[in-house]
Amino acid sequence: MNNVYFDHNATTALDNAVLEAMLPWMRTQSGNPTSRHLFGRSARDAVEHARAQVAEACGAYSSQVIFTSCGTEANNFAIKGMAGHKPASQILSSAIEHPCVTRPAIAMQQQGFISQQIAVNTDGKVDLAKLKQQLTAPTSLVSVMLANNETGVIQALAAIAEMTRAASAFIHTDAVQALGKMPLNFTDLNVHAMTISSHKIHGPQGAAALILDKRVDIEPLLHGGGQEKGLRSGTENVAAIVGFGAACELAVTNQKSYVSHTQALREQFEQGLLHINNVLKVTMFGNNVTRLPNTSFFAIDNIEGETLVMALDRKGYAVASGSACSSDSTEPSHVLLAMGVNADIARGAVRVSFGANNTTAQVAEFLVTLNNEVLRLKQLTAIAA
Ligand code: PLP
Repeated sequence: MNNVYFDHNATTALDNAVLEAMLPWMRTQSGNPTSRHLFGRSARDAVEHARAQVAEACGAYSSQVIFTSCGTEANNFAIKGMAGHKPASQILSSAIEHPCVTRPAIAMQQQGFISQQIAVNTDGKVDLAKLKQQLTAPTSLVSVMLANNETGVIQALAAIAEMTRAASAFIHTDAVQALGKMPLNFTDLNVHAMTISSHKIHGPQGAAALILDKRVDIEPLLHGGGQEKGLRSGTENVAAIVGFGAACELAVTNQKSYVSHTQALREQFEQGLLHINNVLKVTMFGNNVTRLPNTSFFAIDNIEGETLVMALDRKGYAVASGSACSSDSTEPSHVLLAMGVNADIARGAVRVSFGANNTTAQVAEFLVTLNNEVLRLKQLTAIAA
């Protein structure tokens, strides 16, 4: 049977070169980066080298990179730490954020903050006019993701940052899905803080970073030995950080070929979906605006997304339904509901996210399987009716 992975927005396999870079730090190199001896100093050098690689991949200075254990931690740190340094007022986050942005914003309500959502339009883009209106009330922090994990839709972040700064609030962006899939430049985006994560770019799980403007006062989540300039205590995960750095360097080198390759696969896939469309109604999401090159999000009329995902899994294809990588909830995707998609259609959502190692042959075979599975499920539904 095939075993084909089309779920790269959830996580990606560790690259061999990344693993090679990590192995010494898992075997023989055992120093703690805070130790003064040779072992400690070489671990420190490795972490600092990785910091430079990460900074280079996202248009930041090394001094702006704060390593964390995952994107979720970096988002919690940004929301709680930055808002917590302003007088309690509103925290605005877009209605399509990952729960690791919305939930800390809601948690801040216990400290007197008010968490409000920013609406998106039917294409999944932040409604700038509504945001401007919302920013007339005192605001501590705005958080808008650069690219959405489900639709791949890319936001006009620099414009959002400008409006937010004009309102004297902090602006944070979750760029976890953007890293490696599009040019990324912290300085050009003009945000105060930006989250990135290693395991989305063929790096290991267990490393991520908050890129932070040094002028921003922020409250740490973890207090302790004072690592990461006192902003994130805890002994650094040296092997994972080294892997994150190596993965960032590869992502920069491969950026152009990644974009053209995954975009071509998606084009082939979406053209193929149109043929299924001759028989069955397919709704595409986010395809009218600029989106990540590798992401395709769609629903086939009267077919449950979860059911189709499981049927495809049995045939050896890994794809995701709406709201993947957040929980095992079967609720329709909050992203699609925010875009005004009808709940029944949203329940049919399936996400295919391609990666650099996928091939045109895999896509062609997948289209045949998808067609067969959809027709089989339709027949089952007709028999049951
Ligand atoms: N933000 C977005 C947009 C994501 O897609 C994810 C994970 O899927 C995260 C944050 C969380 O990152 P991590 O898995 O590193 O905690």
